[in-house]
Amino acid sequence: MKANKAVVKVMPPKQVDDSIAPLVHEMLAKLGEDPAREGLARTPERVDKALRFLTSGYRMNVETILNGALYEVKYDEMVVVKDIEFFSLCEHHLLPFFGKVHVAYLPKSRVIGLSKIPRIVDMFARRLQIQERMTQDIARTIQEAIDPVGVGVICEARHFCMMMRGVEKQHSGAMTSAMLGIFRDRKKTRDEFLSLVNYRGNGF
Ligand SMILES: [Zn+2]
Repeated sequence: MKANKAVVKVMPPKQVDDSIAPLVHEMLAKLGEDPAREGLARTPERVDKALRFLTSGYRMNVETILNGALYEVKYDEMVVVKDIEFFSLCEHHLLPFFGKVHVAYLPKSRVIGLSKIPRIVDMFARRLQIQERMTQDIARTIQEAIDPVGVGVICEARHFCMMMRGVEKQHSGAMTSAMLGIFRDRKKTRDEFLSLVNYRGNGF
C-alpha cells in the first residue's frame, strides 16, 4: 500500500496585523541603528510586549475591578489610602512619569474594598496620560462608584520628559489634585486630608 502522500503545507504563523514590532524595527533604523545587530534583534517584539502592558489600562474597566467589592456601612469618617505607587507614560513624549497617589473619600453609605483603590489607580496609570487628567479620572471614578460625600486625590510625580530632556530639571516634581464634593467645598476636610497624607511638597 502506498503511503498517502498528502502534501501538508506548513503555513507561516498568521501575521498579527496589529503588531507594532515592525514599526519599532523601522524606528530603530531611522534612529541610525542596525535593527539586525544581536542586541536589537528581538527588541521590536520586546517593545511591543512592554507597551501592551504599559497601556493595559485601556482594556480594564471599573465594573470588573470592583467586582461587587462595594459595601454598605455606617461609617462616616474619612477613608485614606496613601502612597499608592504608580508608573505611567506621558502622552506627549511616551516617556514615563511616576510617583505616588493619595486617595481619600468621605463615605455616605458605601465604601470600596481598600485593595481596589490601587487597582483603579493602575487602570488609569497604564494608559497614555497627562498627570492632571489621571488625577481627575481617579477621583471621578470613585465618586461615580460609591457616591460619597466627597473625594480627594493628590498625585505627586516626576516626569522623565522633564528630567532627561528639555529643561533637564532632575529633581523637579509636579503635583496635581482633584477635590470633589466636600473636599472642594470645605477647607477643614481638605486640610484633614492633607495632614493625613503628611504632604511635604516634593519630598518624595
Ligand atoms: Zn512628556
